[in-house]
Amino acid sequence: MKGIWGRLLDIDLTSGRTGEIAIPEKTAVKYLGGRGLGARLLFDLLPANIDPLSADNILIFLTGPFTGSMVPGSSKFVVVTKSPLTGGWCDSYSSGKISLEIKKAGYDGLVIRGRANHPCYLQIDDGGVEIRDAGRIWGMDSFQAEKTLKELEGNASAGVSSIGPAGEKLCSYACINSDFYRQAARGGVGTVMGHKRLKAIVAKGSSHCEFHNRKKVIELNRANYERAKVSQVFQARSKYGTPLTLNFTLTGGILPTRNFQFGTWEKALGKIDSVGVYKSAKSHRSCQSCFVHCSLITEVDEGKYKGTTLEGPEYETLGMFGSNLLIDSLPTIIQANVLCDKLGLDTISAGNVIGFAMECFEKGIISEREVGFPLSWGSGQAAVKLIEQMALHEGFGAVLADGSMRASQKIGQGSEEFAIHVMGQDLPMHDPRLEPGLGLVYIADATPGRHNQANSFIPPEGLEIGFQKEVGDQVGRGRYLKILSNLFHVLQASGACQFGLLSTTFEYLHESLSAVTGHPFSFQEVLDCGERIATIRQAFNIREGINFLGYQIPWRAYGNPPLESGPLKNVTVKIDMLLQEYLEEMGWSKDAATPHKRRLHELGLDFLANHLYQEG
Ligand code: SF4
Repeated sequence: MKGIWGRLLDIDLTSGRTGEIAIPEKTAVKYLGGRGLGARLLFDLLPANIDPLSADNILIFLTGPFTGSMVPGSSKFVVVTKSPLTGGWCDSYSSGKISLEIKKAGYDGLVIRGRANHPCYLQIDDGGVEIRDAGRIWGMDSFQAEKTLKELEGNASAGVSSIGPAGEKLCSYACINSDFYRQAARGGVGTVMGHKRLKAIVAKGSSHCEFHNRKKVIELNRANYERAKVSQVFQARSKYGTPLTLNFTLTGGILPTRNFQFGTWEKALGKIDSVGVYKSAKSHRSCQSCFVHCSLITEVDEGKYKGTTLEGPEYETLGMFGSNLLIDSLPTIIQANVLCDKLGLDTISAGNVIGFAMECFEKGIISEREVGFPLSWGSGQAAVKLIEQMALHEGFGAVLADGSMRASQKIGQGSEEFAIHVMGQDLPMHDPRLEPGLGLVYIADATPGRHNQANSFIPPEGLEIGFQKEVGDQVGRGRYLKILSNLFHVLQASGACQFGLLSTTFEYLHESLSAVTGHPFSFQEVLDCGERIATIRQAFNIREGINFLGYQIPWRAYGNPPLESGPLKNVTVKIDMLLQEYLEEMGWSKDAATPHKRRLHELGLDFLANHLYQEG
């Protein structure tokens, strides 16, 4: 198959041995790359029931067939591992130059095993990989580490991914930072990297992978751009970026506010919404290979954070540190965001767990005596202080360093009721009450509590979804999730950004895949590929003893009890009905969500049939 090299770097940090893993053609056609290939590799290579923070865990970085092509938004890579937050399957997606440079070095990704006995980093180029000493950069924040490594390697244009002190100190929601402001943030992928004592990966290559039909790729891109140009979604996203989502969620009454207690917060308007962020923006920036340029570069003009610059903040961070903590100061949110990026924290989990702690403080469950300072709603100073403590595992921050579920287990006194997470993964700023399909994604996807695994708010143009997008009408969303999540699995196996797809028509994905790889993908084949990926991820969790049908639901976010006012008054997500619809559509068993044997064979997953049904 074109579009990939068919080989991965294989690195064992315990022994220091390095080698290569070949990807056979038929494996590439079945799983593509990214999340798809990662699903097969992690299932095959990881022993069952290992501790995520042990040398046995594996960290896999993967590009996709689109990486290095001219497909818009194709600078994404995925990190795959077993999550220290949920104890199950984890993939986390990020933009980053590193994906293009790994590909240019002649590899589709890397498999990292074992644990180094001293801090190290990986240096990758056309000649392969070297494990180098990171004693000098261990302890640095991610920005310093990236800058220092580029200087050390004498290559300002290298791709660098690194962890900050939060990863080194094993904060459970540590992220992996790339190009200073881009993160593979969720699930604790940076924690696993820190446990391996792997500070960073530096890559620089000079080869170009062959694509099947470059002319067709250019033609498709041109048509896509022409279509996107006249799309209102594209125009708005290009101008305002993701902060526009805050206006949408605020108006819709689904802007999580005060630790998910309310769905709207008027004080955000003009200050921390798209208008407020746009006023502070100095320019726009795009990830490499993308015409959407949805990132805004902001700068604080006055006050104690004057001069702080950021690529962002994105919607999730604005909401988590804004409405969720009742902070209406954009400079404070920018400062909180930069701190999280430098220290290597996922802003979603960080903001969520601080919201949980503020509610504990309000209710008198914790006091200034335990925390060391007042932890009142709206206190930017307290939030910034806690971010530092959580990353460094110091003071009261150490109690919050493993997410809201574990913090509530430590604090007790009924606080479990308002820890807003699924299986230890803190919920993001997408309230499922307006789009109940998202409430289903939070439970039924193999990575619980994640909003980017199937964005059911804005389906790609032309996709027949067969349900009424009206508040209260929940029937059919379970069925629709199968199609949408399968598309997203393939998108993230290909190495492209979801915003590219959401700005165009659904045909674009299989047409571009065919042009890049030379394999004639039909829409149905893309859906089957997505289902294959969903099925392996689910089987991985089953092997780990995880059954999503038994998850504890964060009822506050699911509308039980329902809100008493606003557009979502009296709405409760009918999660049992949605789960049943989804199980039926997937053909998974109603008690343990086990994939059906016949379907496993139809999808070419005979190895899973052997595993789940002891065949052969
Ligand atoms: S749409 Fe935005 S996030 Fe996605 S690749 Fe383009 S610039 Fe990056």
